[in-house]
Amino acid sequence: MRLKDKVAVITGGASGIGAATAKIFGREGAAVAIVDLDAERGAKVCAEISASGGKAAFFQANVADRASVKEMVEAVVAEYNRIDILVNNAGIIRDAMLVKMMPEQWDAVLAVNLTGVFNCTQAVVPLMIQQGAGRILVTSSLSGICGNVGQTNYVATKAGVIGLVKTWAKELGPKGITVNAVAPGFIATEMTAAIPQNVAKMLIDKIPLRRVGMPEDVANAFLFLASEEGSYINGAVLSVDGGLVV
Ligand code: NAP
Repeated sequence: MRLKDKVAVITGGASGIGAATAKIFGREGAAVAIVDLDAERGAKVCAEISASGGKAAFFQANVADRASVKEMVEAVVAEYNRIDILVNNAGIIRDAMLVKMMPEQWDAVLAVNLTGVFNCTQAVVPLMIQQGAGRILVTSSLSGICGNVGQTNYVATKAGVIGLVKTWAKELGPKGITVNAVAPGFIATEMTAAIPQNVAKMLIDKIPLRRVGMPEDVANAFLFLASEEGSYINGAVLSVDGGLVV
């Protein structure tokens, strides 16, 4: 087991990439704290992990709300005593072309995808410093590297978190904490389910591996970065996109 006795907090853990990461981390021996807005789906993921012999608990929190995040971190520590791994994965899209983007769309995406990462990381890091070790992981995106039409707000956040990762890698490395991002390409989750079939086909034709990614493809990258094998990787952005950016 590659994460035996580790405690992992996974935001957006009730669905898609976060749920796949929670299940794989649970299988690898981590006690998993699933953080999400959706309690029903979160409880379902916990039940699946427990049924396969893993350890998981659900913590309802809004990553955009500092008070909610503080409460969540206190509850996780009360349950598991420590936090070894934080996967900042909760994210939303509110797409629109620049000229049509409403301030509310900009604010909502910034609040969850960028401020949420700041809130959760800042709340967890003092404990990791005290422990002398920790792993911070972030779900960025191919869009944050290349830009994407219709995603001004989303791209700002996904490029923004790459800046955070590089800054925190420098700031927290001396404390024994590594900070890395994964940049998924086109992954089959609820977030991409609304993409029309003809657009999806055009996208897949551009992917050298000629297939859409699965949430587990991203979860396995997180597992590598969180495990002992990833211990000398710090400040990296690992693309998981079938070669789309090459
Ligand atoms: P998803 O299935 O929609 O999962 C996102 C999860 O985040 C949902 O469970 C959602 O809960 C939760 N969430 C949203 N706002 C939250 C908040 N304020 N506080 C706590 N939890 C919140 O989408 P996904 O594709 O797995 O996305 C996971 C991450 O991967 C996101 O950061 C996304 O930007 C990134 N990503 C995805 C792709 C892709 O192709 N799918 C590509 C690149 C990057 P609710 O459902 O209750 O809102």
